[in-house]
Amino acid sequence: MTTSHYIAGRWVEGQGSDCIRVNDPALGQPFAELMAASIAQVDQAVTAARAALPAWKATSASERAAYLRGFAEQLDQRREALITLQMRNSGKPRHEAEIDLDDAIATFSYYAELAEQLPSKNREVPLAAAGFSARTRLEPVGVVGLIVPWNFPLVTSAWKLAPALAAGCTVVLKPSEITPLIEQAYGHIADSLGLPAGVLNIVNGKAETGAALSNHNGLDKLSFTGSNSVGSQVMRSASVQCRPVTLELGGKSAIVVFDDCDVDQAVEWIVAGITWNAGQMCSATSRLLVQDGIADALLPRLQAALENLRVGNPLTEEVAMGPLTSQAQWLKVAGYFATAREEGLQCLVGGRALDRDGWFVSPTLYAEVPKSSRLWSEEIFGPVLCARRFATEEQAIAEANDSRFGLVATVCSADLARAERVADALEVGHVWINSVQAVFVETSWGGTKGSGIGRELGPWGLSAYQSVKHVTRCLG
Ligand code: NAD
Repeated sequence: MTTSHYIAGRWVEGQGSDCIRVNDPALGQPFAELMAASIAQVDQAVTAARAALPAWKATSASERAAYLRGFAEQLDQRREALITLQMRNSGKPRHEAEIDLDDAIATFSYYAELAEQLPSKNREVPLAAAGFSARTRLEPVGVVGLIVPWNFPLVTSAWKLAPALAAGCTVVLKPSEITPLIEQAYGHIADSLGLPAGVLNIVNGKAETGAALSNHNGLDKLSFTGSNSVGSQVMRSASVQCRPVTLELGGKSAIVVFDDCDVDQAVEWIVAGITWNAGQMCSATSRLLVQDGIADALLPRLQAALENLRVGNPLTEEVAMGPLTSQAQWLKVAGYFATAREEGLQCLVGGRALDRDGWFVSPTLYAEVPKSSRLWSEEIFGPVLCARRFATEEQAIAEANDSRFGLVATVCSADLARAERVADALEVGHVWINSVQAVFVETSWGGTKGSGIGRELGPWGLSAYQSVKHVTRCLG
């Protein structure tokens, strides 16, 4: 049993009624447990964040930047422990756990720099009218609730925490109940840096804890990453008090492969887009659109690459893909395999759970999937790829855009003018051209349509935690 809630600068035991079991998904066995925070403890965390706000927002931008640099440095110092915990609790292969940690470190370093630039953004506004002066002030939004999922725990939290603290907000973070230990590192780092009590609070728990936070009337904003169904509940609770909300939701993204591609290179990009994190990525490119002229060469090689992918326990084997992170996710993906059989889909590889302990499934490829299939339109959140052929560029764009989601897409073509043209026509928040899904802190993250509201990362990620004020003075 671990002491797992960080409230007002102190570690406290949960007083809620839910016991949270923390599992090793490669074994399907728990290795730790903790009691969820009670609703009263959520309230204490929001109260602590409110009490800490006046002093924190009065700190200079360079003081806040120094704390953020401290987070980056201390994450790096805890490197091995954080990588091992992600492998054990999330089932991530070592190299992916390393990428996540480096992403979190880069995020804190980047927002430290942006914080230092803040004073120069508070400036005089040139006015056409005579007799007045005006200046801009970027102020922190206030007390912010941050609710995050389990698939990239270090990263999704860093994308919210770092810009919120940089802007001068105080926060209450609610990690996912599937991965409640990883983000505790942020509390331990806050402790060792001497971050003022209440600036960062962490409460763990399930839906009830998340709902207590998102319904709390002491928040000025809520930033949520997770499923569409919970996202819409969070938005409903934000609407009661008309407070702003950022939503990073699901996806059903396309990877478009034109027939001028190098086949082996395209296979590498396709495999990465559906098997990283065992496909449990909001940005998984789970709809493959392949042009007629290359399909017959590409599909057998893709099939072989997925068949040969090394799947296993990241803690004991050298693997390219680990298990699914939770039993619930494993059952959900198995449900889609059953649906595929009922729909009579053509399975080229996989389509089954692995016959071993833990929550493993095979990397899976269905070909010639009709648009009417549930597997073509619904987010599966597993290593399950559905393929369709297309003839023309216009057809590829239309099929890629024919989705209620609009998070990301990948375009693969040797004709760069065409790749750029297609990228411009796709209704999504981020497009990769001839690349794996490299994410840089300077660029934005977020979706169109059902994939969410707002953007994280880059200067947009900081703006999400700022309120713009103008002071206009009559000079007469
Ligand atoms: P989820 O919506 O089930 O849970 C997300 C968080 O919300 C968890 O902390 C959970 O405890 C909490 N929660 C649950 N019920 C709640 C309620 N009623 N009120 C408030 N909070 C509540 O999502 P998940 O299964 O953890 O994550 C998978 C989903 O997240 C996928 O749909 C994926 O696409 C999405 N996701 C999106 C992005 C993005 O950047 N767009 C990134 C990662 C994951």
